[in-house]
Amino acid sequence: MKTITHWIGGKSTDGSSTRHGSVFNPATGVEQAQVLLASRADVEDAVKTAAAAFESWSEASLSARTGILFAFRDLVRANIQALAEVISDEHGKVVSDAAGEVQRGLEVVEFACGIPTLLKGEYSDQASTGVDVFSFRQPIGVCAGITPFNFPIMVPMWMHPVAIACGNTFILKPSERDPSASLMVAELWAEAGLPDGVFNVVNGDKEAVDALLDHEDVAAVSFVGSTPIARYIHQRGTERGKRVQALGGAKNHAVVLPDADLDFASDHLVAAAFGSAGERCMAISAAVAVGPSAGDLVAAVAEKADAVRVGSGRDPSSEMGPVISGAARDRIVGLIGSGQEQGARLVVDGRGIVVPDFEQGFFVGPTVIDEVTTSMDVYREEVFGPVLSVVRTDTVDAAIKLINANPYGNGTAIFTSSGEAARTFQRGVKVGMIGINVPIPVPMAYYSFGGWKDSLFGERHIHGPEGVSFYTRGKVVTSRWPQVRHSSGASYHFPTAT
Ligand code: NAD
Repeated sequence: MKTITHWIGGKSTDGSSTRHGSVFNPATGVEQAQVLLASRADVEDAVKTAAAAFESWSEASLSARTGILFAFRDLVRANIQALAEVISDEHGKVVSDAAGEVQRGLEVVEFACGIPTLLKGEYSDQASTGVDVFSFRQPIGVCAGITPFNFPIMVPMWMHPVAIACGNTFILKPSERDPSASLMVAELWAEAGLPDGVFNVVNGDKEAVDALLDHEDVAAVSFVGSTPIARYIHQRGTERGKRVQALGGAKNHAVVLPDADLDFASDHLVAAAFGSAGERCMAISAAVAVGPSAGDLVAAVAEKADAVRVGSGRDPSSEMGPVISGAARDRIVGLIGSGQEQGARLVVDGRGIVVPDFEQGFFVGPTVIDEVTTSMDVYREEVFGPVLSVVRTDTVDAAIKLINANPYGNGTAIFTSSGEAARTFQRGVKVGMIGINVPIPVPMAYYSFGGWKDSLFGERHIHGPEGVSFYTRGKVVTSRWPQVRHSSGASYHFPTAT
């Protein structure tokens, strides 16, 4: 069986650990590879390598760095299809969706190609007589990225292109459930001319993560994953003096007002709830139907959910693939059942779906549950599967209140034709990313991505300007070039401008 290795110092390596994890093909349910799970010694090796590479990479000129970034950008672009196929085979999502995630990752690489402009400092001429003040930013050292299974290319690309462009070196610890794409990315970086040791991949689980969090030579940790682990990473990393940005889970609500175009809204709700089998941190998992049109909305959504073509991610006619694992499928099926038991109305039931020729695959069909209340498990938990819960309210204010009472605050959307309602919504919700008639409002790479409340621990959002700020630290220089003749002019008073 294929063994998936680490990538340290510009080459593939087995490291010292004898532990392995299983990598499945979710469409067939068959174990297709084993991934090495790094030991503390393997992490030590990676950090040592990355720290040594930092010495020269942090000194590389902006034009040398951007030359490599542009080459990397071209290589990723040329390999979109190949990367998408690798993603699909280990994650399960359909290839066209996987290609979309590579494209969104590529946009961050393109953003990072502009690093010379992004790192320009400020300059104040003659701040005091004969004194100028200027600021600039420098890289921080070895940065680590710990990433989830659901976007094996895009989420790491929220991190490493920006960190590396800023002059840092990087260690990626991808999800152990779909690790192969990260090794392809390592090869592309090498082909682009990135010096050995600047980008490294350590495969592993909690042991590798803890070793990264504890290592004194790791300066910063970017994490994306579930909320309990995000909270843990933030706490343990900051206790050890590191910068940490830890993005957590989500419960994204889409509010549909009676003045919305129901056909448009239901089309987008179905795509946002069931695309990638609901395994997106920005997936819509709760529709908040406001007012008397709720019944019509549920009917339209149900009809479209029923029509979603479920199949292998490699089948071009599939619109939705399997979920990541048998355990994930069983958990989702359990939550659907709990909704029914707790009094919700199951309108479309995706349990028990069988895909011909893929009978052992980890499939759950699109599911729509109406009359869900906020006390039900299917509402309270992040389902992370193809399940859309419909909650009903009477007013937009009640919808905003409901969203704000939820512990998550990643993304949300409103469907309406009223600018006034949209403005009330955008100002009132305690959520980081908001869509107005846009169901999955993932910001472009030149903005930053991040949620509020339990969806993000740490001060800075990821990529975009906040990413540049996260991966650098500032210096301010106050400078004077005096013509020293008689007196130096030194004073024992606190310095003030003259
Ligand atoms: P996860 O939290 O299980 O795993 C994420 C990473 O943490 C993996 O690399 C994993 O190896 C590591 N990890 C897992 N358990 C650990 C432990 N006990 N100690 C240390 N490290 C540990 O998440 P997942 O199941 O891979 O991904 C799905 C989750 O990620 C969902 O909750 C989803 O909402 C979230 N997510 C959030 C965003 C965002 O931008 N906020 C984006 C994508 C995914």
